Amino acid sequence: MGQMLPKEDLLIRMQRDLKRAVSKDPTRVRWAMVIDVAKCVGCHACTIGCVVENKLPPGVVYRPVLEEEVGTYPNVRRRFLPRPCMHCMNPPCVKVCPVKATYKTEQGVTVINYKRCIGCRYCLVACPYAARTADFGEWYTQKTPDLPGKIVGQKTSAKGYENTPAAEYGKTWPDRGHGSPVGNARKCHFCLHRLAVGMLPMCVTTCIGRATFFGDRNDPEALISEQLASPRSFRLKEELGTLPSVVYLK
Ligand code: SF4
Ligand code: SF4
Repeated sequence: MGQMLPKEDLLIRMQRDLKRAVSKDPTRVRWAMVIDVAKCVGCHACTIGCVVENKLPPGVVYRPVLEEEVGTYPNVRRRFLPRPCMHCMNPPCVKVCPVKATYKTEQGVTVINYKRCIGCRYCLVACPYAARTADFGEWYTQKTPDLPGKIVGQKTSAKGYENTPAAEYGKTWPDRGHGSPVGNARKCHFCLHRLAVGMLPMCVTTCIGRATFFGDRNDPEALISEQLASPRSFRLKEELGTLPSVVYLK
């Protein structure tokens, strides 16, 4: 007999949990993410959702999905591992920043102040998870001819999407030029701008396998707390003492 579907979509429960968390005293909230590797189907919907949400340029990906082969031939299978920033509680990236452009928020999120960042890329080297990338100011439609009536009908329409400002950190960032994230380090920020308006991170809502969980680890009633307590849990490179806030389930 097939497995029964849960009565309620996990997203509905997490949305309810989120509502509770954002109405709390913010100093008592600690955001965490759990990724169930056994449920990830490797569709990359989270990767693409994140690129769109944050208007990421070529070469900048906040949430790649890594692939590996596990087992011994002929009993092998492919395993998928989404890899956002781990939001380490002891983050090596923060320690090396010479201008204090990257820091931890009260809720445990590692963030970057684009106005302070000088693009030295020390943090890219220090991060043991390769969770940071440099923004070199490229954009997808850079070399695409935008002929009126030939591709999208209107001149500049192809660029229209990329010209739309990103909303990272709750601000309106131009896509290039002075005051934009160009030239800076960039990374996942748990979609803080979405949390601020009561929405789950984009990767959580786009995950078709329902493999990504998010919430306040200080809330014992939240789904995230149940997932964190799973005996299947493990953290990447735990031996480094970085104390990741992103936990995986085997
Ligand atoms: S995963 Fe890397 S970028 Fe993220 S907090 Fe840890 S050290 Fe910093
Ligand atoms: S939390 Fe948001 S920014 Fe981070 S990987 Fe997911 S979608 Fe991207």
